[in-house]
Order: sequence, then structure tokens, then C-alpha cells
Amino acid sequence: MARYSDSVCRLCRREGTKLFLKGTRCVSDKCAVDRRAYPPGLHGKARGKLTDYGIQLREKQKIKRFYHMMEDQFRIFFERASKKKGNAGENLLTLLERRLDAVTHRLGFARSQAEARQSVLHGHILVNGRAVNIPSYIVRESDVIEVRPKDKEKEFIQERTEALARHTAPSWLSLDPGQLKAQVMRLPSREDIPFEVKEQLVVELYSK
Ligand code: SF4
Repeated sequence: MARYSDSVCRLCRREGTKLFLKGTRCVSDKCAVDRRAYPPGLHGKARGKLTDYGIQLREKQKIKRFYHMMEDQFRIFFERASKKKGNAGENLLTLLERRLDAVTHRLGFARSQAEARQSVLHGHILVNGRAVNIPSYIVRESDVIEVRPKDKEKEFIQERTEALARHTAPSWLSLDPGQLKAQVMRLPSREDIPFEVKEQLVVELYSK
């Protein structure tokens, strides 16, 4: 599957918001959104007003990029969310938030969603004691997520262990930073989504 290979900061500038795709750089004064708060490209500053369709499209792209997903996979998640009871937009966000790569990132086991995805693909993350190398795996209540014990001595994990001392995990996850281990205490709700988004616009876009 083709993946985006240009600067990820351009994606944030295009969406006009921080998508936190570059780890610690995102909270430093080097963040491109803070330094150049207008869309990338020659005519970035001169772009006109968006149509209703354009606004809906941008909101969908924002969510897709935040969760590091390609269009086909995102659409599958939307259809899955639409079949569940309740609000389709909220279902979509809470389902995406339960992806194993997102959970790995939220727990601070990786600096960015891209790095979390790599960690999962390379088998560094265990769920209930077993390696799960599927980034889109959906965690369930009571699941135990941890860094594979034999990886804990590796340099990149040691770096994360030090950073975890200053990390706050979301309230739906119970993190033991010393053990690099966590448990899903409850499923995430809309309030647990860690970025500003209008998910209803995605529902309207896909309903056309
Ligand atoms: Fe986005 Fe992070 Fe780049 Fe800022 S530093 S533009 S938040 S990826």
C-alpha cells in the first residue's frame, strides 16, 4: 500500500492544526504550525474560502492523518462504526482510539503514532501476554498491553522508560511506567479523544 512520504509537518499545516505526528518536536518551538500558520505551497497564504464539501473533506483528512491511516482502511472503520448503535461519528472516533498503535502511542511506549505502528509491526507490543503485530487491532476492556519483556533493555525502550516518568496516560488506561505495562480499565468515550475535531462532518461527507 502506498504511504505518504513527504514532510508530515505539511499535513498539519494543510489541516491548520497540530496533528502531533513528530513526537517531541510537536511540543517544541520548532513546530511548523506555530512557525508558519498557513497552508503549504506557493499559494498557501492566498487560498480562498472553503465550500461546505471542502470543510467536510478537510475534517475527514484531519482524522485520517491523526490516526495515520490510508483512505480504504479509514472507510472500513467508518462502515464498522456506522453499524454500531449510537452516533456514527462518535463510534468512529472511539473505535480509532482503541487501535493498538494509538494505544501504544497514548501510553507513551512510542513518541508518535508512526513509531507506535512500527513497534507493533515489529512485535514489540504484547496484548494479554501474546505478541500482536496488527496496528489496527482493537483493544478491549481488561486487555493488558505491555512492551515485550526481552525488549526492555533495548536502547530505544530505555529512552521511553525515562520519558514515561513525565508522561500522563489517558484515564481509561491504567499505566505502570516502571513495568512498561498497562490495562484497559474502560472503553474510551468521546471526551477521551485527544484532539479537536468535528466528526459529524465526516458522517455528512460519507452520507452523500
Ligand atoms: Fe505537526 Fe508535529 Fe510537525 Fe508541529 S512538529 S507541524 S504538530 S508534525
